[in-house]
Amino acid sequence: MEYDVIIGLEIHAEVNTKSKMFCSCLNDPFNSEPNKNTCPICLGHPGTLPKANKEAIEKIILLGLALNCEINKLSKFDRKNYFYPDLPKGYQISQFDLPFAHHGYLEINKQKIEITRIHLEEDTGKLNHPTGKNYTLIDFNRAGVPLIELVTEPVIEDAITAKLFCQTYQQILQYLKISGANMEKGEMRCEANVSLQKKGSWERNEKGGISSKNGEKLNSKVEIKNINSFKSLEKAINFEIKRQSEILNRGEEVLAETRGCSDNTGETFSQRIKESSADYRYFPEPDILPISTDDKTIEELRFKIGELPHKKKDRFIEQYNISPEISETLVSDKDTADWFEMVVSELREWTESLGQSWENQEIKLAKMTANWLTSELFKLLKESKTKIKDLKITAENFAELISLIYQEKINSTSGQKILKIIFEKGGDPSNIMKDLGLEQNNEESSEDLENIIKEIISKNPEQFEDFKNGKESLLQYFIGQVMAETKGKYNPKKIIEIIKSIK
Ligand code: ZN
Ligand code: MN
Repeated sequence: MEYDVIIGLEIHAEVNTKSKMFCSCLNDPFNSEPNKNTCPICLGHPGTLPKANKEAIEKIILLGLALNCEINKLSKFDRKNYFYPDLPKGYQISQFDLPFAHHGYLEINKQKIEITRIHLEEDTGKLNHPTGKNYTLIDFNRAGVPLIELVTEPVIEDAITAKLFCQTYQQILQYLKISGANMEKGEMRCEANVSLQKKGSWERNEKGGISSKNGEKLNSKVEIKNINSFKSLEKAINFEIKRQSEILNRGEEVLAETRGCSDNTGETFSQRIKESSADYRYFPEPDILPISTDDKTIEELRFKIGELPHKKKDRFIEQYNISPEISETLVSDKDTADWFEMVVSELREWTESLGQSWENQEIKLAKMTANWLTSELFKLLKESKTKIKDLKITAENFAELISLIYQEKINSTSGQKILKIIFEKGGDPSNIMKDLGLEQNNEESSEDLENIIKEIISKNPEQFEDFKNGKESLLQYFIGQVMAETKGKYNPKKIIEIIKSIK
């Protein structure tokens, strides 16, 4: 039997605001001692009044705009009622019918994955079950931390696209500085709805779901929770596709339920039968007024979006002629992309300070930087578990190292040696090169240099004539040509000396 696979995603991400969503407690669920960042509001004491966090609202609108959404100029909060020990009020303040953003999309491999809605809500506390003990500890530091929930339409057809959606969304959250979106830390949590339907038996409806085409009953969908990594998301979806198709092939029914998933194998297991939204008895939060957003605010936020990762990737490919794979690696994290461009701009300064044309050398130098960054430097970062923002190497020093290799003052083995030293304790690559005697001897080749210069002059006889007749500015022109031809290997002083000596 052949089935259509229908996947929808629900992704929660903690917003990195200073304070919590509805009180002024510090938003710091990871570093503080248990229950330190709490107050009567986030502990749900009767009679307390929540107050919405403006920074969180601006961030969700910014995100909505970046994801091509419509923004609800009038939005409101609602109570989602359910009982659980980590939810002190007995309800979660969330959004029901007027989320901040709706009807957007994110493009994955040329497919527009439609986004149903993006809404703001509060996180719950955290339960800790000490091993071997018969009690549970509750930490409310996380209770009330702002959460952004994104829901996609059920339009994803395979596990890889679902994974790519989550990864791209994570990058965007990080680029916009909305969330650390680290899955291991639980800053980002993905859930997938998976169902299998007989081919051609269904169609999408306006409510963001699917309906039967021929009146036949649709197969139930299963929600997968507790997914801790992108890898296990992909594995769990593939596991579910196989499990459900086997059930359907046997002529049995798939149960509508919530299933957990094992980290290593992606195997899913039943957790509970799913509630419908009616079970949550949503109603408007009476303690918070509806929130209106004007056009001016929206336009100001739109302006803040900046260059998003996929645009940056395309630009890197075009501007620096680097491969899509390396470009992807560079933009996967904004700090890396920014640092790469800082190094390139240092190289530009260096090139121009030598009186050379940047245009002629931009691609070569940027490519070389990209290669050294994503291979040698990444290796060192990985080995030492260091983040690029904690590097001891300044962009200036890395640029200098690249320039030494580019000019062939050092070979790549020496380059690696110097890189390791400046990675560990910083420092100036030229000085280290001299201290360790790593400089290659290019002196013998000054005869070659003279020949190169003579050839360039023979190709530009008129300019050389003008130069000899006193048009001094043409000296720079010739230096530039020689530098480009010799990859800047020779000392400009030496070049000037030779040019001037030629009659
Ligand atoms: Zn509080
Ligand atoms: Mn939610």
